[in-house]
Amino acid sequence: MTDPLTTTDDIETYLDATREARLESYKAFLRIPSVSGIPAHAEDCRAAAEWLADSMRTAGLEHVEVCETSGHPVVYADWLHADGAPTVIVYGHYDVQPVDPLDLWTSPPFEPVVVGNRMLARGAADDKGQVHLHVMAAAAVLATRGAFPVNLKYVFEGEEESSSVHLDGWLEANRDRLAADVAFISDSGFFDGNLPAITIGLRGMMYAQIDVVGTAVDLHSGQFGGAVQNPANALAQIIAALKGPDGRIHLPGFYDDVRTLTDADRADLAALPFDEDVYRTELGLAALVGEVGFTTLERRGARPTLDVNGIWGGFQGDGAKTIIPAHAHAKLSTRLVAKQNPTKIFEALRDYVAQVAPPGVTVTTTYIHGGEASLTPTDHPATQAAVRALRAVYGTEPVFIREGGSIPVTAAFDHVLGLPVVLLGFPQPNCNAHAPNEWLSEANFESGTRTIARFWDELAAMRR
Ligand SMILES: [Zn+2]
Repeated sequence: MTDPLTTTDDIETYLDATREARLESYKAFLRIPSVSGIPAHAEDCRAAAEWLADSMRTAGLEHVEVCETSGHPVVYADWLHADGAPTVIVYGHYDVQPVDPLDLWTSPPFEPVVVGNRMLARGAADDKGQVHLHVMAAAAVLATRGAFPVNLKYVFEGEEESSSVHLDGWLEANRDRLAADVAFISDSGFFDGNLPAITIGLRGMMYAQIDVVGTAVDLHSGQFGGAVQNPANALAQIIAALKGPDGRIHLPGFYDDVRTLTDADRADLAALPFDEDVYRTELGLAALVGEVGFTTLERRGARPTLDVNGIWGGFQGDGAKTIIPAHAHAKLSTRLVAKQNPTKIFEALRDYVAQVAPPGVTVTTTYIHGGEASLTPTDHPATQAAVRALRAVYGTEPVFIREGGSIPVTAAFDHVLGLPVVLLGFPQPNCNAHAPNEWLSEANFESGTRTIARFWDELAAMRR
């Protein structure tokens, strides 16, 4: 019987011997408050980038560079001596989400501590923990074997949590240097407790704002009510027209480019361990709703949605104020699936809103941001290499999942660089990413490192 946690003896011995040192290094990285969305933390983001670059040099990676962008730097490194073997881009991000509400943390977010078997800190899972796993896996392979079986190009960015604003430009500008066969993204997680999972689909996004304007100032609702259009009522009418009670979105052409779920896709999703009642109860809801004719997992990951994210206008203070508001506004997002195009969806929204808007108000629809969905076939050789690596380390069959969220860089690798993308990450689904008390289990920290090292071996068998 082989121990399922055994990678190969040499790497195993190295990882055992360096366990304490790796944990200390992980903590040191987590102590840097690299919150990309808060300008006061710009120097901390740079410090995290420099720390990462140093640890990559120590690991034995080459051409390590802290690359300037107009925002936070990208850390690049490579190792390119596996002639004839595939080349992989490894992506992760060293920036983190803000930490508020601070009073809900059981210990300070940038003072990592191990509680039980969990490392507790902002970024422990998303995504500094995973970036760290990659660097430690590289150190382990180079220290024990002196070479990788594949060529590696590491791209660790510092703006993922603030929309990766400068990454596309950097990828474009470095297109030649980034030539590769596949991208490996570690910014996702496991499924249902601690079930090894490969994320094959991520939804895209189209985010927009609707502004409805009536008069220059609020009007007396007694003097003018009944004579003029009310922007808040008008906005409510517009929003109500966007989606039916059956969950279908009414924008003309909205579903035209949606890739139909095959019977096999539906069978894969149906086979996942997912208890709808538990899911509903954990949310504290009386019912789950969504597009008729699809299961909850299908609706959450493989079908597009439209949701109002915020709505405001008029009087919102205590008590009563009898006005017809001068203006009203809503922000809304659509989560898109392959092959929907965000620009096309925005145009459909803009035209439809103009069509359903009642008279007597000026309505403007503005595009805020968008990104395409991505979908990697389960039978792609790189996906299958990930399956074999997970199977070898965890001794269990991994599942394929589709995430409802978006990782903009996935679409960038897919569309800017034309690369198939393997999404493999090691946090558990309840790791509190973006929330207080974020954590990663020590067990997954260790097994994740081993899986990555094993993945390079499995991938080496993949031919270009
Ligand atoms: Zn992330």
